[in-house]
Amino acid sequence: MMTPERLTPFQRRLDASINSHSETRALLVLIRLDDITEHDTTTTPDADAPRATHHFSPTDTLIDIAHSSSSLPSLPLFYDVLPELFAARKMRLDKVCPSGDVIARCTLEEYGALFVAAESVCVPEACVFANEREVTEFQNQAGIACAMFDETEVQLQPAALLALIAAHKEAEGSGMTITPRGGGEASRRSYEDTLRLWLSRVLPALDFWCAGGRVSSDEADAVRGLPTNAQVAAVLEMEERGIFFSKDFKKSVMRSVALPGTSQHLAMLAFDVTEFRDASVRCILARHGWFQTVLSDMPHFTFLGRAEEELTSLGLQRIVADEQAFYVPRV
Ligand SMILES: [Zn+2]
Repeated sequence: MMTPERLTPFQRRLDASINSHSETRALLVLIRLDDITEHDTTTTPDADAPRATHHFSPTDTLIDIAHSSSSLPSLPLFYDVLPELFAARKMRLDKVCPSGDVIARCTLEEYGALFVAAESVCVPEACVFANEREVTEFQNQAGIACAMFDETEVQLQPAALLALIAAHKEAEGSGMTITPRGGGEASRRSYEDTLRLWLSRVLPALDFWCAGGRVSSDEADAVRGLPTNAQVAAVLEMEERGIFFSKDFKKSVMRSVALPGTSQHLAMLAFDVTEFRDASVRCILARHGWFQTVLSDMPHFTFLGRAEEELTSLGLQRIVADEQAFYVPRV
């Protein structure tokens, strides 16, 4: 067996770090990089060895290689992590998101990051709240905590509010502030709120597409008159035909507003922040468990109550958009 004195520098790094779970992944990437570098410099490249023509730099290729090599252990997928997380809460994936329920599935994949939240908070037992009664029951069970932020009442689950207050204090200590964006709608919402916001997109879009001749007035009237669930299904079906319901009519309504009964604000784990463009504010919020988790919704932060370093091991992937990091389900 090789003694420590005879180890190569790389093997010594491996030996020193082998028990550190958090470093294993980076370490495995380094194995590849060292291997490639040695191959480049000491052997004649084979005709079928294109890697020998590349000069890798550990600093600029770590992430690409980590994400592209099938021989490396990959980060877990969202659907691989959920069963265990749900079991700990005595929940089941097929109850949260019944198979064949397209709306529930879309909701889970768009807004489902909240399901990896720490056990200090409650998560809904279904992706979609069917009505106001279900929302009220959940909110009462989770507990509603209130605090005033610049004359606006913020209502969240207790652990989420405590973390937000701590972040607010830390921000103030550094001459910054964290304020609710949109008044009372920045935190807890009701089912009725989500329905109103939904209609604020759907009704103008129907008028727009009618005026443009893409939708007949009969079809528009029929969609306007549908019960909520059927209306959601009809809108999503029309979007498959390129008739979009976002504010600018260019993208899916789901990128513009949550479907009725699906907003993270119903779970009281979401807070819209005025200062979302300030990287220092985002940093402070992240230190207190608050992260951006909905790609198209920049001011929207979700309380996960987790350390940022553990999020990618919980089935979320980090995506940077407009220089901001979002943690969304890896599906
Ligand atoms: Zn929001």
